[in-house]
Amino acid sequence: MSIFNDNLLRGEVALVTGGGTGIGKEIARTLGRHGARIVISSRRQEVLDAACEELRAEGIECLAVAADVREPDAVERVIETTLARFKRLDIVINNAAGNFPASLDNISYNGFKAIVDIDLLGTYNVSKASYEAWLKQHGGRIVNISAPFEHWGVAFQAHVAAAKTGVDSLTRTCAVEWAPLGIRVNSVAPGPIGDTEGMDRFESATGKSRAALGSKQDIANAVLFLVSDGARFINGVNLRVDGGSGIDMLKMPVSS
Ligand code: NAP
Repeated sequence: MSIFNDNLLRGEVALVTGGGTGIGKEIARTLGRHGARIVISSRRQEVLDAACEELRAEGIECLAVAADVREPDAVERVIETTLARFKRLDIVINNAAGNFPASLDNISYNGFKAIVDIDLLGTYNVSKASYEAWLKQHGGRIVNISAPFEHWGVAFQAHVAAAKTGVDSLTRTCAVEWAPLGIRVNSVAPGPIGDTEGMDRFESATGKSRAALGSKQDIANAVLFLVSDGARFINGVNLRVDGGSGIDMLKMPVSS
């Protein structure tokens, strides 16, 4: 049961990177349930195909296009394929990311670079390719999925925190440069989200489990709001969806 109208995004097309798994799949499902036609993209075609099958079973039109967000040519092909199939692109969700929790002692040069390349450069590549091929002529909305790491030292997450803080900065610059063209760009920073590979990996690497977890639906709802007309004057914000944990210095458990 959604508080949003089922036809909120009727006629629109949304691209979700990393849309075959976890939070990205939930975002794709939620945008699709509200009328959008969906394109999901990540490296593994078989994972995308299975996710698209799930969405189609719910009556959602879904296209799966494999690409690595680190490769601009491949990203441009995703946008071309989207436009060839659906003739438009209204919404871009930069959700694809890598993560392996590790202390600074244990992150290699290549490991650090890989995360910055996927999370930050990947977000730039997909935003830029979407902008050039469609958004600068027609307007649209971009939501980048970041993390609430901006103001903290986050042990085991040096690479991710650096990349995601860059994503928030890129969000603000895209927002102000592209606002005159009718493009809104915001980011959503999920707190610890249950039933995700990211959280499972973090808990097994650190031996720490969190008292309170959000759900994938919590993140998808925030994204849906930001791409809706209800958020038409919201641009360049970083919306924490974390139950307050990102500003809680004493890390008190949150109940909801
Ligand atoms: P996930 O299931 O591991 O999703 C990551 C997705 O990105 C996968 O579908 C993966 O698919 C894709 N991907 C990875 N590398 C890629 C590449 N080079 N090119 C294209 N796609 C790539 O993770 P999740 O937990 O749902 O996280 C989703 C987002 O939320 C991420 O941006 C993450 O940083 C953020 N986040 C999550 C949490 C949490 O608690 N889970 C907290 C804060 C922020 P392939 O392997 O097929 O490429």
